[in-house]
Amino acid sequence: LYNMVQDLKGNIRVYCRIRPTFRAESKTVTDFIGEDGSLCILDPSKTLKDGRKLFQFNRIFGPTAGQDEVYRDTQPLIRSVMDGYNVCIFAYGQTGSGKTHTMSGPSGGTSKDMGINYLALNDLFQICNDDGLSLPDARLRSVNSTTDVMTLMKLGEVNRAVSSTAINNRSSRSHSVLTVHVSGKDTSGNCIRSCLHLVDLAGSERVDKSEVTGDRLKEALYINKSLSCLGDVITALAQKNSHIPYRNSKLTLLLQDSLGGHAKTLMFAHVSPESDSFGETVSTLKFAQRVSTV
Ligand code: ADP
Ligand code: MG
Repeated sequence: LYNMVQDLKGNIRVYCRIRPTFRAESKTVTDFIGEDGSLCILDPSKTLKDGRKLFQFNRIFGPTAGQDEVYRDTQPLIRSVMDGYNVCIFAYGQTGSGKTHTMSGPSGGTSKDMGINYLALNDLFQICNDDGLSLPDARLRSVNSTTDVMTLMKLGEVNRAVSSTAINNRSSRSHSVLTVHVSGKDTSGNCIRSCLHLVDLAGSERVDKSEVTGDRLKEALYINKSLSCLGDVITALAQKNSHIPYRNSKLTLLLQDSLGGHAKTLMFAHVSPESDSFGETVSTLKFAQRVSTV
């Protein structure tokens, strides 16, 4: 049933998540959030009449939506991994918009409010009763519990490049990819092999704003390139093009087996609600719209 429902919806879904504001004095740009996935934002420099922009996604999570609510709408995809589908879930958005919050959980990482990475692994281990599932990273390390995986994730987090920019002094200038390979047998004894990519992308903010030079600039340009390649691949898939440009970036090459074919893709478009982020919010929503509506 999970798959029937998902198939009806198509293989590419886009959810938008708006994080709560941390500055009480700041006006927020959200005008309204529709139950049907519509989102209206308001340009703070314009009038109510001229400044409205309308977007349509599969689902919008407003600032009060909790981790459990977000996961409820993600869980069917995780279950379809057990049915042999490859799945890719990625979080896109400017630095500080909540990507890591959705994928990993709040910074500081207590077990409360854990994100999709944790909840998905818990589900996978529960579904297979911790039996016959192996979860190797690039060096094929077997793990037997969610805790094992989280320990590995912490190690990855330490290794993850973090450098300061003018936008945010904890700006992540790297992508973080957690890949789960699942193998097993279905009820009739047929072999099932599938994989799940859980991706926390680097910040999507434009380079000029971050006032970076030298190596940092090279890095920023590389990140922007890999993000636009990801957009190109998803757009080509949605248009059912015969040529899919996977080879244009390492990121899309890495995710290739979980993008396209029978694979299912979910993109979380993350936006910050503050009015000074309006420009980045519009470009994130436009990118997400391009991915979702072709
Ligand atoms: P990003 O990974 O996009 O740079 P983070 O996930 O680190 O952004 O979020 C920035 C800050 O906002 C963090 O302190 C995070 O805990 C907080 N935050 C983000 N989204 C939410 C949310 N939905 N609810 C509560 N706090 C959030
Ligand atoms: Mg982050």
